Amino acid sequence: MLIDGYGRVVDYLRISVTQRCNFRCKYCMPKTPFSWVPHENLLSYEELFLFVKVAIDEGVKKIRITGGEPLVRKDIDKFIKMISDYAPDIDLALTTNGFFLKHYAKLLKEAGLKRINMSVDTLVPQKAAMLAQRSVLHEVLEGLEEALKAGLKVKINTVALKGINDDELVYLLEFAKERNCEIRYIEYMENTHANDELVGLRASEILDIISKKYTIKEVGKAPNSPSTSYEIDDGYKFGIIDPHKHDFCDSCNRIRLSAEGLLIPCLYFEEALSIKDAIKKGDIAAATEVLRKVLQNKPQKNKWEAAKENEVSNRAFYQTGG
Ligand code: SAM
Ligand code: SF4
Repeated sequence: MLIDGYGRVVDYLRISVTQRCNFRCKYCMPKTPFSWVPHENLLSYEELFLFVKVAIDEGVKKIRITGGEPLVRKDIDKFIKMISDYAPDIDLALTTNGFFLKHYAKLLKEAGLKRINMSVDTLVPQKAAMLAQRSVLHEVLEGLEEALKAGLKVKINTVALKGINDDELVYLLEFAKERNCEIRYIEYMENTHANDELVGLRASEILDIISKKYTIKEVGKAPNSPSTSYEIDDGYKFGIIDPHKHDFCDSCNRIRLSAEGLLIPCLYFEEALSIKDAIKKGDIAAATEVLRKVLQNKPQKNKWEAAKENEVSNRAFYQTGG
């Protein structure tokens, strides 16, 4: 079992398989050039898998593949299959913008993937194009339908933004409900990489908007989840991830691995240690040692909480894996 310096059991590994992305979302990487990450810096799937096996053997029970956009990394289904074959019972999920799902959904399901989280911030093509800085909605919605058809369980992630999708939050909820998907609204996390004109909606504002149409009952947080769950009149449940409330560190159970081999104990990548050398040499004992050190360094609270009110985080979601 993996236990950090504050006695928390760590059983959830998030792997960012690439920093690259085919979108340029305004809240994530609006100014990043399209050709900036050298592929040769990445650990191969075989190398990442060496570490995944260590993590599973030491007690990791849940793995999420993310990025960047994980589906832009070639043969991602093969990596999923490696993990799934090694640990068929592991809770294996992927977070995606959905653009390439039309092609990948069936392959991912066959490879052993169980669940996906998909980002859908708007159902208006022009707004989606404005946010992602390219025309995307048609492919995203096709991808969503394909994922459902393939039998993947889908959660929809929606970053709630003032003046952009606040008028669509109810419509998005109904869209998700009709497809038997849970929707989770995410409070926008201000960060230095994002477009500084964006203003996010707080959880209370999201609830105000939805309560104009539905009666809402708070259900609470599932263990280790950053999302608070709510129920509307007919029993449909939705979630809100409210990082501004700063109340999920006490039950944090996760560590993150970047595509370059940085093992990140918390949202801030400055505190990370690299497993790259150990993994490149195939030195499992050394990789396990790095894992133990990172767990000991896992901070009690994320630095964002320690920051002054309104201070903007330097965290890049696409580097550490959102
Ligand atoms: N490309 C995939 C996607 O968009 O789903 C996976 C990576 S993305 C970094 C993971 C999640 O982070 C997405 O749901 C995205 O909406 C969220 N995200 C990115 N920047 C954010 C920000 N500044 N505030 C809140 N959520 C953010
Ligand atoms: Fe790409 Fe996801 Fe970031 Fe959007 S949120 S730019 S889709 S990594």
